[in-house]
Amino acid sequence: MSRITYVNGRYVPSREAVVSVEDRGNQFADAVYEACQIKDGAIIDLRRHLDRLDRSLAELRIVSPMSRAAMTHVLREVARRNRVENGYVYWQISRGAAPRDHAFPTGVNPTFTATAKSLDVAAAALRYEKGVPVITLPDNRWERVDIKTVGLLPNALAKQAAREAGAFEAVFVDADGFVTEGSSANVWLVDGEGRLVTRPAERGILRGITRSVLMEVAAAEGVPVVERRFTVAEMKAAREVFLTSAGAILCPVVSVDGETVANGAPGSVAATLRRRFHDIAERTPI
Ligand code: PLP
Repeated sequence: MSRITYVNGRYVPSREAVVSVEDRGNQFADAVYEACQIKDGAIIDLRRHLDRLDRSLAELRIVSPMSRAAMTHVLREVARRNRVENGYVYWQISRGAAPRDHAFPTGVNPTFTATAKSLDVAAAALRYEKGVPVITLPDNRWERVDIKTVGLLPNALAKQAAREAGAFEAVFVDADGFVTEGSSANVWLVDGEGRLVTRPAERGILRGITRSVLMEVAAAEGVPVVERRFTVAEMKAAREVFLTSAGAILCPVVSVDGETVANGAPGSVAATLRRRFHDIAERTPI
């Protein structure tokens, strides 16, 4: 079955999906995006992802090309046409195509594209069962990482460095020695008292939707959450470390820069939170 992509009003075979060479997403990373998990035939936490998209668009002063209802329809349709039961839906909006000029063009329509893809369920299950290694790297990104833009070159370089080091994810560390986030995930630890610790979202990280929902899951499970900065040393000494993102929801970390975390196996807090996550997350059936 050929994959289907939505581009500016049309569902087309992915190999025929095109945007202009002069699209500002292409030339300036002048675009924002979102990605939601699809689980058992439903889009997960779509409302919150649309809220964050609205915020990203507003920060860049891009006007959404369609209503939330229309966007929801397109995303469900892309998932349905690609027959994705478990995987993710990805969509992005650029400011549009215009002759190259750094300043904003006038009178252009935003470019909207959306795709959906099935997940390798077995590989994801194995990562969850065994946990993953991570490396740490200096955070060399711009200050506005709270906006979910497609300007992800530092993230891509960091992920590649992780792969080359035999690790699954790269965790960024700020100039003061505090962990910010992974190249495509938020980072958490469980401290000696059994509290969940994660960096405040005011500065230095993307306010992950999975992060927000996980706080509700933790509250429902009676697990205290502390929002504070933490160091790489604290991460290495933690009872548990894990990553959260819409794609993987929650992925345990078993080593940091080659040093084993706790006993080197995924922990029980991560297991509980992951098990309960979809009881609390919202579902939009495809
Ligand atoms: N931080 C970064 C840099 C990300 O790219 C992502 C997800 O793509 C996240 C955090 C997690 O965000 P969410 O839970 O909304 O997927």
